[in-house]
Formats: sequence, structure tokens, C-alpha cells
Amino acid sequence: MDLRPHAHDGERLATACREAGLKATPQRLAVLKALLTSREHPGPEAVFRQVRGELSSISLATVYKTLDALEAAGLVERVTPLSDGRRYDANRTPHHHLVCTTCGRIEDHEDPALAPPVPPQLGGFQARSVRVEVLGVCAACRREA
Ligand SMILES: [Zn+2]
Ligand SMILES: [Zn+2]
Repeated sequence: MDLRPHAHDGERLATACREAGLKATPQRLAVLKALLTSREHPGPEAVFRQVRGELSSISLATVYKTLDALEAAGLVERVTPLSDGRRYDANRTPHHHLVCTTCGRIEDHEDPALAPPVPPQLGGFQARSVRVEVLGVCAACRREA
């Protein structure tokens, strides 16, 4: 289910947590909401900066632990392009990523035509989804260049 349209519906997010086997703590709900409302694929520090306004007592360590729990429950996904640490994505609909190698920005790109055909035989490996990571330079960085 795509939770993004319900990012501000706390009850809906709490239900999603419980259905994923997680207790719906204020920390988890705040971190999940931060990821659902961001299009930046933020890392833990960026999530921390955002949730601190809502939960002034939250620590960066708690944000890390919360992200681990949400990831283990399948509510968010860790994105691993380039090497600048962890980045997270709460967009659970199939999509591709446009990764700027200059500023590290990751944009979602929804275009089914972009996916390469998956061969039926992958040596016993069963494919579930295909994600394309397009590396390049984003429009903002190109304007600056
Ligand atoms: Zn860029
Ligand atoms: Zn994404």
C-alpha cells in the first residue's frame, strides 16, 4: 500500500506500524511521516533535523534505531546509491532513481518503460522487482555549471 497520501493521518500510520508488527511509538510515527513527506530520500541526519521540531526530546541515536526498525518491518527501504551513507525511501510503489553524482540528490522517476527486460532464467534467482539507477547530473547542478 502506498502510504504517502496518508502521511498526515497519524491513525493510518499507526495502523500501518501495527500491521507490520511494530508498536506505534511517537518516534516511529514521526520518522515515518518525515520520510513519507520528503522527496529527497533523506539520510538519518536530515530526518533528525525534521523530527526534532515535533519531538524535541528525540536523539540522533533514536532516529538511527527507529530507521532500522522501520526498515526491518518493510515500511521503508534503504537506498544505496553512491557511498554517502544511508538514505531512506518510503515510496513503496515501483519506481526508478535519478541519482545526481554532483550533489547526491535522488529523484524518483516513475516510468515503466525504463525497466530493462528481465530474463526468465537468472540462475535460480527469483526476481521480485527491477530498479534502475540512472547516474548523472541533476537540472539544478547543470544550471550552476
Ligand atoms: Zn545535483
Ligand atoms: Zn525513491
